[in-house]
Amino acid sequence: MTATPMDELLGRIRETEVVELCRELIRFKSVNPPGDERPIAEHVAGVLRTGGLAVEVVPHGPTRASVLARLKGTGELPGLFYSAHLDTVPVGAEAWLHDPFAGEVADGKVWGRGSSDMKSGLAAMIIAAKVLAAAHVKLRGDLILAFTAGEETDSLGATALAKRPDLGPVQALVVSEPSSNGIFIAELGALWVELTTQGKTAHGSMPDLGRNAVMMMVALLAELDRLPIPHDPHPMLGGFSRSINTVTGGVKTNVVPDRCVATVDMRTVPGQDHQAIVRQIEALGADLAKRLPDFRATVRVVNDRIPITTAPDEPVVQRFADVVAEATGQRPEPKGVRYYTDAAALMPTLQAPMIICGPGEAGLAHQPNEYVEVSKLTDSARLLTLAAARLLG
Ligand SMILES: [Zn+2]
Repeated sequence: MTATPMDELLGRIRETEVVELCRELIRFKSVNPPGDERPIAEHVAGVLRTGGLAVEVVPHGPTRASVLARLKGTGELPGLFYSAHLDTVPVGAEAWLHDPFAGEVADGKVWGRGSSDMKSGLAAMIIAAKVLAAAHVKLRGDLILAFTAGEETDSLGATALAKRPDLGPVQALVVSEPSSNGIFIAELGALWVELTTQGKTAHGSMPDLGRNAVMMMVALLAELDRLPIPHDPHPMLGGFSRSINTVTGGVKTNVVPDRCVATVDMRTVPGQDHQAIVRQIEALGADLAKRLPDFRATVRVVNDRIPITTAPDEPVVQRFADVVAEATGQRPEPKGVRYYTDAAALMPTLQAPMIICGPGEAGLAHQPNEYVEVSKLTDSARLLTLAAARLLG
């Protein structure tokens, strides 16, 4: 039996190399806030440059940076966009079984902050690009890699990269966020708003002389919680959700509060218009101002990420699922996911089908004792290599 070119290609992926790279990446502390992605960005850029890719480090101030790299194709086909992020969430207060920044290997797993979300997915994409470059695989379209700063807070890197004129056209945007090597093709949008009510302080014993901003907020939140927000449930994502998650106000017990601030986390489904929701909340405030004397409130959007959906029968989704089946032995059913990714920032520019597929465990993201299974990590490098070879071949 002779080895096929694809066997030869996949034979170049060494488990030890993928694991070592993942461990190296975990050892960079790129906890966000504050981010500090510059050192890991420089390191990743160096690895890709040595691998033969055209690489650019895109700075966002002195301590932060993203990486944009490209493996050139002939230009006969649209490109393929690989996206991962360089930052992680903080470690938290709970004690970990393994040092979160050591990248220890135990029980067939690599442990550490970012192992699932998403330095494993990042490592798998880097290895895929390196293997394709080293094998001199003829690509008919560019493989574009965007490894970004700031995904865990404001998508600083993806927002900056989305402004570039040289990103598209692409067949698909692949994000290696944790999916246990399954496929997610829809993600909820996020609309976070900050509400502020304004009153006037007075002595707590003479409340009639003041205007109580906390009581204004109580009235506003009670009505906002019941406000009908039109939406149609999505087959893969479920329904729209809203949750009032912070309220702060008041000076001290004997002072009528002049200011109260609340934040609301809304998750939207495809078809909902974020601006229309904000207008609805503003209209509610205006209505309350008519009914309640001295009521004053403002609405400010603090996070605005569009919902994304790709049709399950989209040919590129089917071809990607075939590749996953070939590389892992299991053909995943495309699903939706309730977390958001850099895709929300990149999609207005790329306008292409989205596929989330990464080796991490979605349930472990942002939790203590985060890990990635070594076998899933290696499978991810295999399937991402194969996907680029097939879709661009
Ligand atoms: Zn992530």
